[in-house]
Amino acid sequence: MRPHARRPSESEQAIPYAYPEHLCTALQGMPAAPGVYIFHAQGDSLPLYIGKSVNLRSRVLSHLRNPQEARMLRQATHISHIRTAGEIGALLLEAQLIKQQQPLYNQKLRRNRQLCALQLHDGKPEVVHARDMDFASAPDLYGLYSSRTAALQALHELADAHALCLGALGLEKLPAGRACFRAMIKRCHGVCCGRETPAEHAQRLQAALEGLRIATWPYAGAIALKERCDDLQQLHVVHNWCYLGSATTLPQARKLAKVAAGFDADGYKILCRQILTEQLPIVQL
Ligand SMILES: [Zn+2]
Repeated sequence: MRPHARRPSESEQAIPYAYPEHLCTALQGMPAAPGVYIFHAQGDSLPLYIGKSVNLRSRVLSHLRNPQEARMLRQATHISHIRTAGEIGALLLEAQLIKQQQPLYNQKLRRNRQLCALQLHDGKPEVVHARDMDFASAPDLYGLYSSRTAALQALHELADAHALCLGALGLEKLPAGRACFRAMIKRCHGVCCGRETPAEHAQRLQAALEGLRIATWPYAGAIALKERCDDLQQLHVVHNWCYLGSATTLPQARKLAKVAAGFDADGYKILCRQILTEQLPIVQL
């Protein structure tokens, strides 16, 4: 059970919020610059919370808005931070650290184990798993989902939005030639009962999926994204949508790029638009 799920007791709600004194020294050393901050508990065990901001100082100071946060702050014995050159570096590092360290108070534990997508097999969408194929290079994958259930739910929603037939999608068993229930209430355009042709349905399904298409990794190998601010320049090394770390020099970046990298959903979500539109300068490694 995660602590934030518990309702605060009345006595906890009554506690007036004040930044714990023992953390104030750490706050003074916190720069008003981008990076990742980490709240630690006694004895340097696993961190309590990891967050990111383009302004570490003001973000860390704002961590006092509700009883859960106040409780986390009381447990914290110190705060550390890692500077980054900008927002992208902060997002990448935050996702990497949360995945590695799974802090107690971070709500989203990001796991790739169940990661799946939709793919058409003989015209029918099927759920495929990242553990069985390389999502960075497999063509014609649609959507990224944390579980098979989530993928099927998304497919149902797609069917609702585009009046597709659950029978034709393989989500429902139908006797041949019989209209499905949704066709009777006009929520399926009726490929099941001949009101549209299978080719028309297939075309509409393809168009509906297109908006969810996963971009394959567009480079032959690893790249570095150059991000800079007044006092820091970083090369964020990425391969197959997987963040491998940040360096300050090219030789260091090339060293990081030697690590094998498989598809990573966090990296994909953070970087897809960034990389495809080349918002930051890119160096191929
Ligand atoms: Zn139908």
